[in-house]
Amino acid sequence: MTFADILVPVPIMGTFTYKIPADIGDSLSVGHRVIVPFGRKKFYTGIITGMSNIGPEDYEVKDISCVLDSNPVVRHPQLKFWQWVADYYLCTPGEVMRAAMPAGLKVESETYIQPAPDYEESEIDRLNQRELAVMELLLGSDKKMPLDVISKKTGFSNIVNVTNSLLAKGAVMISENLVERYRSRKEVYVRLAIPKGDNEALHRLFDSVKSGGKQEKALLALIVLSGFMRQGGNVNEVTRTELIERAAVTTTVVATMAKKGLVDIYTKEVNRFSFSGLVAGKLPELTEAQNVALDKVHKLWLDKDITLLHGVTSSGKTELYIHLIDYVLRQGRQILYLVPEIALTTQLTRRLQCVFGDKVVIYHSKFSDNERVDIWKKLLESSEPCVVIGARSSVFLPFSSLGLVIVDEEHESAYKQHDPAPRYNARDAAIVLASMHGAKTLLGSATPSIETYYKATTGRFGLVSLTERFEGMKLPEMRLIDMSDARKKGLVTGTFAFETERLVNESLKRGEQSILFINRRGYAPIARCKLCGYVPKCNNCDVSLTYHRHSDKLVCHYCAAPYSVPDVCPACKEPGIEVLGYGTERVEEEVESLFGHASISRMDLDTTRSKDSYENIIENFSKGKSQILVGTQMVTKGLDFDKVSTVGVINADSVINFPDFRASERAFNMIEQVAGRAGRRNENGVVAIQTYNPSHPVLSYLLQHDYTGFYEHELSERQRYNYPPFVRVIYIYIKHRDQTAVSSIAFEYANRLRKLLGNRVNGPDEPYVARIQSLYIRRIMLKIENNASITKVKKLLNDLRIEMTNQKLLSGAVLYYDVDPV
Ligand code: ADP
Ligand code: ZN
Repeated sequence: MTFADILVPVPIMGTFTYKIPADIGDSLSVGHRVIVPFGRKKFYTGIITGMSNIGPEDYEVKDISCVLDSNPVVRHPQLKFWQWVADYYLCTPGEVMRAAMPAGLKVESETYIQPAPDYEESEIDRLNQRELAVMELLLGSDKKMPLDVISKKTGFSNIVNVTNSLLAKGAVMISENLVERYRSRKEVYVRLAIPKGDNEALHRLFDSVKSGGKQEKALLALIVLSGFMRQGGNVNEVTRTELIERAAVTTTVVATMAKKGLVDIYTKEVNRFSFSGLVAGKLPELTEAQNVALDKVHKLWLDKDITLLHGVTSSGKTELYIHLIDYVLRQGRQILYLVPEIALTTQLTRRLQCVFGDKVVIYHSKFSDNERVDIWKKLLESSEPCVVIGARSSVFLPFSSLGLVIVDEEHESAYKQHDPAPRYNARDAAIVLASMHGAKTLLGSATPSIETYYKATTGRFGLVSLTERFEGMKLPEMRLIDMSDARKKGLVTGTFAFETERLVNESLKRGEQSILFINRRGYAPIARCKLCGYVPKCNNCDVSLTYHRHSDKLVCHYCAAPYSVPDVCPACKEPGIEVLGYGTERVEEEVESLFGHASISRMDLDTTRSKDSYENIIENFSKGKSQILVGTQMVTKGLDFDKVSTVGVINADSVINFPDFRASERAFNMIEQVAGRAGRRNENGVVAIQTYNPSHPVLSYLLQHDYTGFYEHELSERQRYNYPPFVRVIYIYIKHRDQTAVSSIAFEYANRLRKLLGNRVNGPDEPYVARIQSLYIRRIMLKIENNASITKVKKLLNDLRIEMTNQKLLSGAVLYYDVDPV
């Protein structure tokens, strides 16, 4: 083949054709990673998506600069999946590629190289002339060097090839914009320099070392570790680390022995991630109700690909998943287990490892890039059955034979990526991924999304319910606390009704724990001048600022810009600025003064920025080292704590009153989920819901834990106002630095779209926050009937965008689509 279609991680539609240099032609196939020149002087890592002998006629094709690996790094079905994501979510396959691959697999221009830190000078004799020239240049300067500078200094035009071979030899590492990229891990091994079974040679080895000396100790240790004297079989590989530990000698001793020719030292690339070590345990025994549900899932699998497991909190959904995972592993297939939040992986990983040992793989964004590349490569090279636990981006991993996808807490909005493109929902993408593999999908939740429950009750999905908690534990008692009434009667301290305070105190007395949920972080969500009413706002965004006591700053929660608290009000020049309302910091402070003897922890974005902080907070609380946990929605999700008996929802209204068609659904889910943390192992579970609006319909269903009642109510609202699941929604966002421009562009776009799609077009409107990071925002809402051709609509949208771009009507504007927004 002479030409290759290459996918490049840029937001431009389509693939690009390049010429395959004659000397590498044979080794290439679809899925191979290559470096190609792109635009002016830029290089990108691209993926080959197709090859042919006929090139384009209307433009000159550039050459592929080099091939990065000896085997494809992407499996064929993955490319098909990427294309689906791009088509469905109206973005480019390049944008999908960018999200899908770990950064370590993408070399881009502005690429810097530097000597690898563990590169030993002695290895220099393994380099050829060109490699040596580059290496000398690098070792001569102690800085990283961009590729084009090296190219200029060495006079080599195809610098990428040399870099590539240096990379393969482990001599250099690549970084970009000072972000370090993937480097393989090397391990040093030691072996006896004689063939197994040659006893005479072995005697000679021992003769040449001092009896009782260190070298003899090392020889003996090496014989034991490698199984050299064992009958039959090969010798085991022994790492230098193992050897020096076992023999209690230094590396110098081993080096001397190598010089004398007693042992060989060699290095090998190893994968950081390996399928070894942990031992599998027993499957949990299921209760009668769980067994019935399990049987039902298996029966449904005969003719349904997608099943919803609707199980109340603590009914044992996870136990059921474990049985299904076991079943699929036995078929020799892989399982993807999606969780909405990486905070949940810790508890879950432990539970799964107890049963499946080393077959459990974890993949998420808090891993280092090197670790992620290693997991990617492992899945690429091996088809071993395993279960991958991961957050949304793990749908992009190179699975070879998926048998089951589990989407736990399927209702979670965290499955949706908001920014940047692809704005995909990992739950829906996972369903498509599963069908491409001929795999089953199991969606699990105590509070299924309206869309999912609708499909499950209208026959599109199978439906299995678990209505009892494990060991017959009752769902916690829900108590509404009317805050305006309580305030009138003086029954409130700060933000706590006496009633809530009493419940927390009773828990403490019984040695039990409490969770307090407030969906705002920081100290106080509003600052205001008490004299003139002035509210400080962000310079870049249309939002008021949140006061953070820890840093003593006003912070914008949209762009993170910090501001000092003004001593005097900028408007009236009086010292009148005060803060109002409650965030997690302030609730924590009040909890400290109310329950001073208890130990308190806080879980929100601010306390969980570092790598292990989530785990530490959860671990401390699980072990009873803290008694009260204050937090944002992070505390509402599927965590399993034994000793929680009281849950306080500090401000239910801020969850309910959100200007969005999903507000009720989100509020019901969040409150029911956080309630589900209470009373999992004891009968004392109580949930105090503080509200100023006790007659809100959502609350009446929550009081009864009545999911289906809520669903029926919400469904009829959705039908009445024409919202999903009765229509499909696409938001069109238009952003611009200039307020007048954004209005007129959005207006023009909506008008033209209305000519094509009539009253399916709503808006443009200003969204709730109408300016973020100096860009003014307008939103057009498209409602498409379920039976309309979505392909046609998407083509219209693309064509309209091209038409307006060509007429220069979109200049300076950012335009993008959000399909199935949540
Ligand atoms: P869910 O995922 O539905 O919230 P879990 O699977 O976390 O429920 O189960 C809740 C608790 O009950 C867990 O601590 C779990 O270990 C325990 N549990 C549930 N089913 C069983 C079972 N069959 N055997 C032993 N423990 C169980
Ligand atoms: Zn801002």
